Amino acid sequence: MQMSLLDEILAHNRRFVEERERPLSKVPARKIAMFTCMDTRLVEFLEPAMGLGRGDAKVIKNAGNTLVSADGSVVRSLVVAVYSLGCEEIYVIGHRDCGMSQLDEDELERRMLERGVPRQLLTLLHPSLVEWVGGFHNAEANVKNVVAQLRSNPLLPRDVPIHGMMFDPANGRLELLVDGYANLM
Ligand code: ZN
Repeated sequence: MQMSLLDEILAHNRRFVEERERPLSKVPARKIAMFTCMDTRLVEFLEPAMGLGRGDAKVIKNAGNTLVSADGSVVRSLVVAVYSLGCEEIYVIGHRDCGMSQLDEDELERRMLERGVPRQLLTLLHPSLVEWVGGFHNAEANVKNVVAQLRSNPLLPRDVPIHGMMFDPANGRLELLVDGYANLM
């Protein structure tokens, strides 16, 4: 017998609620750690574009998915994701039209000074404030650079593939830049 639309909706909702009753594991179901940008257009867009849902992946974000330290917070999060939470692959995902590729160093400095940041502190962060925040000129080159840095980081295991991708926040298209299976060490 064919179900009515109403029956379909109610049946779907019963399954939906049953699934919600099972608490999700903190171990990611798809065993993925993703490192991407904090850009607002990626929220609720990048994961569905990759077929990932709640509970599937560890998601690490910062401005421009940049790596400014070999043992900083990004690497620490990846270490925990891999060794303690069972992640088996790492995805570094940059995106088109990233704000970090258009940072104006002088304006950034002026605004920080205006808001009360001590000039001596900014002087410490020189020669390049933009370098300190991780600014770049080319988002694709940044992804490739981050993948290469992670690949050679001795804190990460050699058997974990590290992929590099670009995402288009306008249409949701993913483009593969680095095939992590091909450069396993
Ligand atoms: Zn961005």
